[in-house]
Amino acid sequence: PSWFDEIGAQPPIEVFEMNKAFLDDTDPIKVSLGIGAFRTEEGKPWVLPVVKQAEKAIVEDPAMNFEYLPILGLESFTNAATRMLVGADSAAWQEKRAFGVQSISGTGALRIAADFLSTVVPNITKIVYISNPTWENHRLLFLLAGFNEVREYRYWDAQKRGLDLQGLVEDLHAAPERSVVILHACAHNPTGVDPTQEQWKKIVEVVKERKLFPVLDSAYQGFASGDPDADAWAVRYFVSQGVEFVCAQSFAKNFGLYNQRVGNLTVVTNNAATIPNLKSQLTIVVRGNYSNPPAHGARIVSAVLNDPTLTEQWKGHIQTMSGRMKAMRGLLREKLEALKTPGSWKHLTDQIGMFAYTGLTVKQCQFLIDRHHIYLLKSGRINVCGISPKNVDHVSKAIYEAVT
Ligand code: PLP
Repeated sequence: PSWFDEIGAQPPIEVFEMNKAFLDDTDPIKVSLGIGAFRTEEGKPWVLPVVKQAEKAIVEDPAMNFEYLPILGLESFTNAATRMLVGADSAAWQEKRAFGVQSISGTGALRIAADFLSTVVPNITKIVYISNPTWENHRLLFLLAGFNEVREYRYWDAQKRGLDLQGLVEDLHAAPERSVVILHACAHNPTGVDPTQEQWKKIVEVVKERKLFPVLDSAYQGFASGDPDADAWAVRYFVSQGVEFVCAQSFAKNFGLYNQRVGNLTVVTNNAATIPNLKSQLTIVVRGNYSNPPAHGARIVSAVLNDPTLTEQWKGHIQTMSGRMKAMRGLLREKLEALKTPGSWKHLTDQIGMFAYTGLTVKQCQFLIDRHHIYLLKSGRINVCGISPKNVDHVSKAIYEAVT
């Protein structure tokens, strides 16, 4: 007998399972629209040239070593990450009311946030609100951190293929005071639909009125508009309204550092005097989780963001990546319309960022996988980087077949 005899299996994680199925598929026609990683026109991963350059200098530095980082991470990185988010000219930065904690990518930042809210901040309800739909890991993260309940707020209006602002505001209005709400800072995953500035103002209003604690999730800064500053507008609006929040930042996508696990949790407080205590509490959260973070990726991001020339180069790479996403949205729409595929495909180009929420049904998605070796999530979410001028005819004809 074993301690483990009675343990059943959990369902697989769809996006990773799908990626494995894609890699195992031997048909040369296969297309991956699943996993959320940038791809070149040749369907290949892209190591950003500025990242390569920065890495080379780090590796060749004779002073480089593998000593532990401090528990809260590499300060030159956390400062640069926080500044890139809130903006050097924001009140929070100027008044030294914002600081960062290095994390195991965006996921790790969310987990630090969840642990911190669950165990440190007094009188939080342990109810967390997530958008319907959202990145599927939000729920699991907060439950594992000790939250009792995950509630959904309305976000996606399937009819109009856009934001259900009224539903969102109503649901947050009905939330118990001191609940936590997760909001995507930009380039919402999976819908590709962000609130407008006017809509954000309404959201911030209800957050203030209901005394909700915002956890912002910024996994795609730069991918929505092509400009990292423009993409931080919502976050900076929270700052301008005097709302306290934490924001999980991922450098997986916008630096192409997926497996390096580079992230930051930015904390914005209205009282700078609270920071030493907050840092000491967050130190305990991190210490009890993984003790201290890895250095390599953080050194790379720090080198880029602390050097104006390298930062400009990186912004160029962001333009390249977001430009390709935009172009592929347009191309797919054009091909589907040329084929007279039933339905409107305007939403493909209305949506922004890496993902398009196609509106395809589970059955139609399964058909694309089984018949055409085109891998996508059952929600109908596709990574538009998976599209290329070479495969767009195959993909659009397959979608045409799926919906007719
Ligand atoms: N948040 C959202 C909305 C995401 O889409 C992702 C990645 O797909 C993450 C957070 C975290 O990603 P990572 O842990 O790779 O930085």
